[in-house]
Amino acid sequence: MERERAVYRDARWRAVRERLRSTQRWCEFCSAHEEEGARLSVHHEPALVTILNQGLDPFDPSFLVVLCAPCHRAADDAQRERRGTRWDPR
Ligand SMILES: [Zn+2]
Repeated sequence: MERERAVYRDARWRAVRERLRSTQRWCEFCSAHEEEGARLSVHHEPALVTILNQGLDPFDPSFLVVLCAPCHRAADDAQRERRGTRWDPR
């Protein structure tokens, strides 16, 4: 947990998150748009704990996906259920 908190406190996390959020203003999964009221956030895929356990870079944009709040909850739930596997919404 401490390693995960350290990622979210890191200036590199804020920088990559802001860059993603400024270039993509819709949900990757359901396409809900910020201008239509979607509350977007940046999700780690695979799960952050998996990225850290595998020694991968948690600030690599290829591990990040912009999701609306309901899709983010669904993705987190799926990751908890199937820890270590890629989230597949289909
Ligand atoms: Zn969505």
